[in-house]
Amino acid sequence: MKKILITGGSGFVGSHLSERLLNEGNEIICLDNFFTGSKENVIHLMGNKYFELVRHDITMPYFAEIDEIYNLACPASPVHYQYNAIKTIKTSVLGSINMLGLAKRKNAKILQASTSEVYGDPIEHPQTESYWGNVNPIGIRSCYDEGKRVAETLFMDYHRQNKVRIKIIRIFNTYGPRMHKNDGRVVSNFIIQALKNKNITVYGNGKQTRSFQYIDDLVSGMIKMMNNTEDNFVGPVNIGNPIEFTILQLAQKVIELIGSKSKIVFAKLPQDDPMQRKPDINLAKEKLEWKPKIPLEKGLIKTIEYFRKKI
Ligand code: NAD
Ligand code: UDP
Repeated sequence: MKKILITGGSGFVGSHLSERLLNEGNEIICLDNFFTGSKENVIHLMGNKYFELVRHDITMPYFAEIDEIYNLACPASPVHYQYNAIKTIKTSVLGSINMLGLAKRKNAKILQASTSEVYGDPIEHPQTESYWGNVNPIGIRSCYDEGKRVAETLFMDYHRQNKVRIKIIRIFNTYGPRMHKNDGRVVSNFIIQALKNKNITVYGNGKQTRSFQYIDDLVSGMIKMMNNTEDNFVGPVNIGNPIEFTILQLAQKVIELIGSKSKIVFAKLPQDDPMQRKPDINLAKEKLEWKPKIPLEKGLIKTIEYFRKKI
């Protein structure tokens, strides 16, 4: 039985990861400041004596006896990470320093949940891990993008300088049950709007693309990366679904699956909104023998069922 610390463990991704790792027979410390996460996301795990929920902010040091750390704490939706931009960057920078310090002291393995946002508004398409990205360092998305880029730097430097055992994954747009209903991300927004027969708000002309991964595929990829035993394979590795859709196609698909009366309306495109995004996943296929299994339609149906019950 491993003792695993999951920061951001009561958020969307963290709650699914906690559940899977607990079911696989591990002991979990789920650490969260409940900024975007909630107890409700993990309440079904609380009866398990190997699950512990701790209210803590990772910008402050934390000490525990642990074997592994999954560092997920950080708001992920543009609405939430821009709400308190300084706090967002502190979470990525100070939070990573605190968690890397803990990993160093305990000789624990640590995985960083990085993001496709490190590629910014990419000029290279699809994005491979060797692409350095096209990020605006002073824009409204920078607190998140640059915070995550610095976090990757810190992980690499702790690895090179202090031999900390690290793994870095770059997560592409992920969706599923337990997404925060007000976080403004496109999948949850469209599903909620369609269920309520309200207008579907497509930003810009809807020709921008994203590649959507269902949560269960992400959790499998994360665990495979953590469990990978090649010490010199630290990543970064892209974890995402390479099937690309325009935002307009997503809107149409959601309307069709729900049988909604919603109309599509066009609204202003947010500043620095990336125009295209699609992962090259050859590295994950080769090193982790991982590829996503759940097609968009199947994942959307599960997510729609969740939100139907929720609202
Ligand atoms: P989320 O907002 O649901 O979860 C983030 C969790 O971190 C929340 O529970 C929040 O309360 C907690 N948190 C935030 N700041 C904290 C702090 N200072 N101390 C302690 N806890 C804190 O988002 P998510 O979608 O579950 O994302 C999880 C991780 O995966 C994030 O690091 C995010 O950057 C990364 N990621 C997610 C996606 C995606 O599409 N969901 C894509 C790329 C990367
Ligand atoms: N988007 C949209 N309508 C919405 C919410 C988002 O058209 O109600 C667009 C957004 O402008 C972006 C894409 O959908 O082009 C994905 O946005 P999201 O916030 O989910 O994630 P991002 O990939 O931008 O971080």
